[in-house]
Amino acid sequence: MRVLIVEDDSELADRLCAVLGDAGFIAETAADGDSAAFLGCTETYDAAVLDLGLPQRDGISVLHHWREQGCTMPVLILTARTRWNDKLAGFGAGADDYLTKPFELGEVVLRLRALIRRMGGHADSVLRVGPLSYDTLNARFSLDSEPLALTAQEQRILAYLMHRPDQVVSRSEIGEHVYARDLDPDSNTIDVLIGRIRRKLGRALIHTERGLGFRLTAG
Ligand code: CA
Repeated sequence: MRVLIVEDDSELADRLCAVLGDAGFIAETAADGDSAAFLGCTETYDAAVLDLGLPQRDGISVLHHWREQGCTMPVLILTARTRWNDKLAGFGAGADDYLTKPFELGEVVLRLRALIRRMGGHADSVLRVGPLSYDTLNARFSLDSEPLALTAQEQRILAYLMHRPDQVVSRSEIGEHVYARDLDPDSNTIDVLIGRIRRKLGRALIHTERGLGFRLTAG
């Protein structure tokens, strides 16, 4: 899952990037309102963390712009502003969640995972496809209730598919959601990784839809 972090405090942005990276996210940053407004509409993100006090353009204005442009990703506002009017403006502009500084870095991870899960229409924090389950709280997979060991890249791909069970997902869509914008994997890379995941699963859960992509299904 790719997340955009909009934060002009570079030290905090770096800490958020590190924590989200450790949690399995691809985290990218924007340090001012104009680049955030642009990136949110032109790149593919699964969620955004948005500061309100930003150079060039305020976070509320950035969020208005994203929503006006039809950008539906979940947005978590992360701000020092604790006043009721700021929260009202944030949710009014289309925020999905609001967290005030100071905060626990781990809470940002938990909230983002919940927002992304909800965006996919899943109520339960554990996603299941046949014998395979994915606990979104700790990003762990299990197969037949046994832990399933995957590399970081394999985890990112399988997590993306777990959020979209029974749906056909194209190679380019997988590439957009599991790689940073400066990395453009060729479709063969995705095929190789899917092949490795299939061998670890040991059964036919990931189906190839010719010319379209892949479908994770137990049926
Ligand atoms: Ca700020």
